[in-house]
Amino acid sequence: MPVPADDELLVRVRACGVCRTDLHVAEGDLPVHRVGVTPGHEVVGTVAGAGAAVRGLAVGDRVGVAWLRRTDGDCAYCARGAENLCPESEYTGWYADGGYAEYTTVPAAFAYRMPDDVHDVAPAPLLCAGIIGHRALRRAALPPGGRLGLYGFGGSAHGVRAPLPAVAGCGSARGPEGGADRRGGGVGERPVVRRCAPTVQAMWPGEQARCGGGSGVSGDGV
Ligand SMILES: [Zn+2]
Ligand SMILES: [Zn+2]
Repeated sequence: MPVPADDELLVRVRACGVCRTDLHVAEGDLPVHRVGVTPGHEVVGTVAGAGAAVRGLAVGDRVGVAWLRRTDGDCAYCARGAENLCPESEYTGWYADGGYAEYTTVPAAFAYRMPDDVHDVAPAPLLCAGIIGHRALRRAALPPGGRLGLYGFGGSAHGVRAPLPAVAGCGSARGPEGGADRRGGGVGERPVVRRCAPTVQAMWPGEQARCGGGSGVSGDGV
């Protein structure tokens, strides 16, 4: 059982997504910061304990634990809201044990309170891929009816593609270019993907635009 530091929560893990970065950590593609570290940084769980300095979260609260685990809070990047660039940043499941375990710890300042009306599993991928996609979409400042292209975007594109028409006022989304992914088989050719596509107003190259053309979003669907 991990022991939380004064400013940390002990979290009982209820769900944890799988990110490609977990494989980079496990396979040694990234430098080791903690020998034998437990990966997993898309965690949803309940607070099972708290350090003495924690305020605002208590045992029983449901929280999410994301990739960015800790920053120094006082460098130039942190001061301008770009804490992801902090030179002292630490990451869940890389610098500290993550969510592929029954329990993990997280600094309370970097835990996200989860709404009560969603299942544990659904928000887990949003805690890495979803954050990336959401940030990219916001920074794109897409105007109503504008075009947005997403390239080689993996799971983050899935997080953006579904809400995009509602968020940006766009008419349609475009599926994977060419319909082929690195594993072969062509994600765009998979029946389940094809059946789901119309529900998010997606179309594939070569098909008639469903919603009058105009905007398009393309993910690699991996
Ligand atoms: Zn990740
Ligand atoms: Zn900083």
